[in-house]
Amino acid sequence: MKIIMLGAPGAGKGTQAKQIAAKYSIPHISTGDIFRANIKNGTELGKKAKEYMDQGALVPDELTCDLVVDRIAQDDCKNGFILDGFPRTIPQAEALDVALTKRGESMDYAIDVDVPDQNIVDRMGGRRACLNCGATYHVVFNPTKVEEKCDNCGSDTVLRDDDKPETVQKRLKVYHDQTQPLIDYYKNKNILKTVDGTQPMDKVFTDIVALLGE
Ligand code: ADP
Ligand code: AMP
Repeated sequence: MKIIMLGAPGAGKGTQAKQIAAKYSIPHISTGDIFRANIKNGTELGKKAKEYMDQGALVPDELTCDLVVDRIAQDDCKNGFILDGFPRTIPQAEALDVALTKRGESMDYAIDVDVPDQNIVDRMGGRRACLNCGATYHVVFNPTKVEEKCDNCGSDTVLRDDDKPETVQKRLKVYHDQTQPLIDYYKNKNILKTVDGTQPMDKVFTDIVALLGE
C-alpha cells in the first residue's frame, strides 16, 4: 500500500503516519524528519535545508525530490510506504509520479487530514519534539509522562524553532499557496480521501483505517 499524507503543518500527519506504518508494516518516510536528522548530523544537506526551514519556507525541490525517489527505491519499500510531508509542491508530486511510472507503479491513496488554521496555531504552539529520536508530543493533547522528557529515549523535548508563532503563520501561508493545490491534483487522480483531523487522535486513526478498507 502506497500512501501520501496531506494536510497543513501541524494537522497530525506525523502522528497518524507512524500508527499507519506500524499497522500495515510499511516504512514511514518523513522528509521533515530526514532533514532534521541531517541538521543534527551536520551534513551539507542539513546545512542547506536549515536555512529554509528556520524561515518557515520550503526546502527547494531539487534538494528534496531525489532524496525521496532514492528512498522509495530501497528494498523495505517493496510492499509500500507512507509519505509524510512529501509531496508539498506540484513539481514534487510530478517527480514522484515520474519515478513510480518508471517502475510501473502509482500511489494508492492521498489522505488529507483536514484541520482549520485556528486549530493549527494551538497544535503547533503545544507541540514538543524530541530532537534525538523524532517522537512528537503535545503539552495538552499528548503529554510526555515526565515533563519535557521523551517517553521513548529520555532526551529533552523542545518547541521546534519553526513551531514558534511567527514562523507558524508563515508556514500556513506557504501551505495554502504551494501545498493545498495538491488536494485537487490527487482528487483528479481519484485517490483523494479526506478525514476530519479536528477529532481526537484515536478517532482520526479509526477513520483512516476504515477508509483504507484493508
Ligand atoms: P504534522 O506531522 O502534520 O506537522 P503532528 O502529527 O506533529 O503534525 O501533530 C501536530 C501537533 O498536534 C502535535 O503536538 C500532536 O501531538 C498534536 N496532534 C496531532 N493530532 C492531534 C489530534 N487529533 N488532536 C489534538 N492534537 C493532535
Ligand atoms: P515537517 O516536519 O513536515 O513539518 O517539515 C518541517 C520543514 O521541513 C518544512 O517547513 C520545510 O521547511 C521542510 N520540508 C519538509 N518536507 C519538505 C518538502 N517535501 N519540500 C520542501 N520542504 C520540506
